[in-house]
Amino acid sequence: MSEQVDTLFMQAPVSNITAILIGLLYFTALKNYLDPVLLSYWILFLSATALHRIWLWWEYKNKPDVCETSTWLKKYTLSSTLIGVAWSAIYIFAGSPETLVIGAFIVLYFGVTVAAFSILAIYLPAYFLYTIPATIAFLFTLNGFSGQAYTALQIAIAIFYIMMGLFVVNTNRNLLETITLRNKNQNLVDELTREVHLRDNLVTKKTEMLVSLNDALFQSENQLRNVINAANLGYWDWDYRSGRHEVNERWLDMLGLNRTDIKNDVSDWSNFIHPDDHERVLELVGEHIKNRTAYTTDFRMKHKDGHWVWIQGSGAVVEYCEATSDPIRLCGTHEDISIRKELEHKLEFQATHDELTGLLNRVELWKQLDSEIRRAERYKHDLSIFLIDIDHFKSINDQFGHKVGDKVLQKFTKVLLSQVRITDYATRYGGEEFVVILPETGHDHALELADRLRSVVDLMKIPVESAVISTSVSIGVSSFPGHGETSASLLDAADKAMYQAKEAGRNLVQSAI
Ligand code: GH3
Ligand code: MG
Ligand code: MG
Repeated sequence: MSEQVDTLFMQAPVSNITAILIGLLYFTALKNYLDPVLLSYWILFLSATALHRIWLWWEYKNKPDVCETSTWLKKYTLSSTLIGVAWSAIYIFAGSPETLVIGAFIVLYFGVTVAAFSILAIYLPAYFLYTIPATIAFLFTLNGFSGQAYTALQIAIAIFYIMMGLFVVNTNRNLLETITLRNKNQNLVDELTREVHLRDNLVTKKTEMLVSLNDALFQSENQLRNVINAANLGYWDWDYRSGRHEVNERWLDMLGLNRTDIKNDVSDWSNFIHPDDHERVLELVGEHIKNRTAYTTDFRMKHKDGHWVWIQGSGAVVEYCEATSDPIRLCGTHEDISIRKELEHKLEFQATHDELTGLLNRVELWKQLDSEIRRAERYKHDLSIFLIDIDHFKSINDQFGHKVGDKVLQKFTKVLLSQVRITDYATRYGGEEFVVILPETGHDHALELADRLRSVVDLMKIPVESAVISTSVSIGVSSFPGHGETSASLLDAADKAMYQAKEAGRNLVQSAI
C-alpha cells in the first residue's frame, strides 16, 4: 500500500506541471476562438487543482507520518478527482462546435486519459475518478451536436474508454503483483541480511571465545611447562603418525645429550633403551595405546658417556583419530630415578644379605632352601646341604679380639665362595656357622665337595698383626629327600651330623644318618 502511494506521489510534480503547461498551451491556442474570460477561469481552476496536487506531494514528501497511508491515498484520489473535473470543465466551451475546437477537445481528452493511465494506473479509484468527469463531460458535449460524425465519435470514445479501463485494470493488477513480488523479495533480502548479521555476530563471538580460550590454553601450557621444569622432569611429545618426537631440555640433560645428538623421531627414545628392557617397555606401551590407558614403567636408557640411567617413564595417548581409533599424539614424562633405584638395590641387598660377609642371610637361606626342595621334588633332582661350623672360633676372638675374629670370618667366606659353584647358595646361618645349598648334587658328591672345602680351610693361613692364624671347620652333610623332606628337617639332620663331627674331634666331615 505504501509503495502504491509512493508511486502515485512520485509522478505528481512532473505530471501536474505538465498539466499546467498543457492548460496554458490550450489557453494560448484557443483564446481567439473561445470566450477569453471563461477560458481564464478554466485555466485558473485547472492550475489550482494541479498546484493542490503538487502541494499534496510536497506535504507527503516532507511529513509522510502526518497521516496514515490510506488517508494519503484518499487525499490524492480527491485531488485527482478535482483535476479530472477541471479538465472536464473545458467542455463548457463546446457551445461553438468549430472543427479546431473539437479537434483540440479530442486531443485533450485522449491526452488526459492516456496520461492518467501512465500516472494513475497504480491506483484504480484515482484513475477512474480522474478520467470519468472528462469522459462524461465530453460524451455529454458531443451529445449536444447533431450529425452522424458526432455519434460515431461518441461511440468511439465510449469504446476507447472501456478498452482503456480494461487495460488499466490489467496494468493495475500487474503493477500490484510486481509490488507484492518486490516486497517479498525485499523481505527475503532483509531476512538474509539479518541472518548474515546474526552469523557475523556468532562468528565474532566464537572468534573472541577461541581467542580467550587460546589465551587460557597458552597460560595453562605455560603453567604446565613450569611445573614440569620445576619437577625436573623430562618431557616428550610424540606425533604417532609421523614419528616426530620432541623433547625438552631436561630430557636431553638426563642422557647427557645435545639437541644436535638427536633426530627428533621416536628412535631417540627406543634406540636408547637397555636391551633387557627394550621388548618389555615397547610391549607395555603398545598395550596401553590399545587399551587407551596411561602407563608408568621403569627402564634403563643409555647415557652419552655409556652408563645406564634408570628412568621412570609415564605417558598416555592424548589424541585419537575419531574414524580409525588410531592414536595421533602421545605425551609423557621421563624422570631420572637412578638414585632411588640404587637405594632400592642397596636396601634389597641389605634385606637379603649378611653385612659382614656379604653372603645370603638366614631369611634368604630358608627361602632358597624351600624353593630348591620344591624344585628337586618336582623334577626328581638331587639336592644336598652343608652345615659348616668353625672350630674353636671363640678362642680366636678371645686371643686376638673380635675384629680379628671378623677378619677370619671374611677370609673364610672368600675361601668358601672359591670352593662352591655359581649355582650353589652360600649363606651365613649364625655367628660362625654357614649353610651351603647344593642343587643338583647327590649325597656322595656332596661329601667329596665338603671334604675338599674342609681341607682347603685347614690349609688356610690368616696373617694378623704378629701372628698367623690357622683354623678348621666341622661340616655336617645332609641330602634331600633321604635325610629330610623339609628345610627344617634337612637342616636339623645336617646340624646333628656337624655335632657328631665336633664330637669326633673336629676338622671333619660327617654325613647325616
Ligand atoms: P666349637 O668348636 O665347639 O664350635 O667352639 P666354638 O668356640 O667355635 O663355639 P662357640 O659356639 O662357643 O663359639 C662361637 C663364637 O663365635 C662365640 C661368638 O662370640 C663368636 N661369634 C659369633 N658371631 C661372631 C661375629 O660376628 N664376629 C666375631 N668376631 N665373633 C663372633
Ligand atoms: Mg658354633
Ligand atoms: Mg664353632
